[in-house]
Amino acid sequence: METLTAEIKKNSKKVPVKGMMDNVMEQFNSAANQIKLHPSIRKILSITNNEIIVNFPVKMDNGDVEIFRGYRVQHNNALGPYKGGLRYHPTVDIDAARALAMWMTWKTSLAGLPYGGGKGGIQLDPSKYSQGELERITRRFTFALADNIGPEHDIPAPDVNTNSQTMAWMADTYMSTRPPAERTANQHVVTGKPAGSGGLEGRDRATGYGVYLSIKIWAEKNNINLKVKKFIVQGFGNVGYWAAYFLEKEGGKLVAVQDAFGSIENQKGIVVEDLFNYTKANKGSVVDFPNAKNLEKDKFFATECDICIPAALGNQITAKKASQIKASLVAEGANGPTNVDGEKTLLERDIAIIPDILCNSGGVVGSYFEWLQNRNGELWQLDEVMVKLEKKLRESFNKVYEYSQREGLDMRTAAYCIAIQRIERAYIERGIFP
Ligand code: NAD
Repeated sequence: METLTAEIKKNSKKVPVKGMMDNVMEQFNSAANQIKLHPSIRKILSITNNEIIVNFPVKMDNGDVEIFRGYRVQHNNALGPYKGGLRYHPTVDIDAARALAMWMTWKTSLAGLPYGGGKGGIQLDPSKYSQGELERITRRFTFALADNIGPEHDIPAPDVNTNSQTMAWMADTYMSTRPPAERTANQHVVTGKPAGSGGLEGRDRATGYGVYLSIKIWAEKNNINLKVKKFIVQGFGNVGYWAAYFLEKEGGKLVAVQDAFGSIENQKGIVVEDLFNYTKANKGSVVDFPNAKNLEKDKFFATECDICIPAALGNQITAKKASQIKASLVAEGANGPTNVDGEKTLLERDIAIIPDILCNSGGVVGSYFEWLQNRNGELWQLDEVMVKLEKKLRESFNKVYEYSQREGLDMRTAAYCIAIQRIERAYIERGIFP
């Protein structure tokens, strides 16, 4: 059995996710200066409301007990319940959870949703655990968090290495531990559930669809035809796959992919569905895909292409990587993939960026629809979901684009300004208790 001390010692040697908080704070402060944000509200938004750390034991398949550490950071709830994903990854720590929770506050505000921002997860490598162990870890984590989450308080969703199955276990655990009369009324404690268990048709593709749609609207505004445009994708999970799927349908050509295992390239094109089926049969990895050549990790961002879609982790596009990018557009599927120096370099090189809080907001909009569906006891059809999603995303994109044009700002600063002003307005109208 691994003791908690051993676990903490081991984890303290891991390289932390450097600079995620620095990035989000720099982005926030730059927009706050731009809009001359009220100083008291700047103070409130610069810190997180609540930070929950839980240590909990789980029985492993071999009978040993392991202790896990889970996080949930609730940044701000001025506009509604905290909302945001849970991530299972070795890089999860309190700083990463804080930064990701803040990004959620801006994202939900920008999307015009009645939500605040939260994020969390467990620091672990899920590939080291069996499905049964992951289920017990998830259920025990949910039990440990139970008084701090809830359908009208804090609503988790999937993120890196968590999926609809994880959400089904969470919903079931949460509902099973409520008094009988409250059980079924609590289904919307999490979103991103499987369609058969209160999930929303189309929630699986909502984020990737939003990434694709943002690219399409950006192309329309710049008179660019997406047919035969080459694109590269970092991360071929939920977001990366669906973004590639829709972009390929529009006539785009996927030419390189990088995931946690390696990178591949084929300038003649990689068929998205073939790669998807290959990864399913190859433990999730794109490496050695027959119709492409393996590529050195460091060469990925330098690949010849028109559009670059980071859809994996944060802090991937640094100044060095940004100087190598050949694309004329970076569409941020991941949260925080471009650091502040990387962004400066991209903008100096006239490479457009569709910022994460806009580009990947299809996921949280889909989650909002699922939450409404559960709350109202409704069942929505896929076609109506996609129509509503497109309408909402177009509104957000146009809002940000027009603001950026009017004020002469890059799209990220424009998106932040709109998001922060909405929260500022709520505080000014309500005042500060007592
Ligand atoms: P996922 O677990 O389904 O897929 C993650 C992918 O990234 C995998 O292909 C994995 O191999 C790859 N990856 C992991 N580490 C990598 C590394 N070091 N280098 C290259 N690739 C690596 O996760 P997801 O749900 O697709 O999330 C991806 C990103 O999108 C995250 O930043 C997440 O916060 C963001 N996001 C997700 C959603 C959603 O609805 N799932 C919504 C908004 C934003």
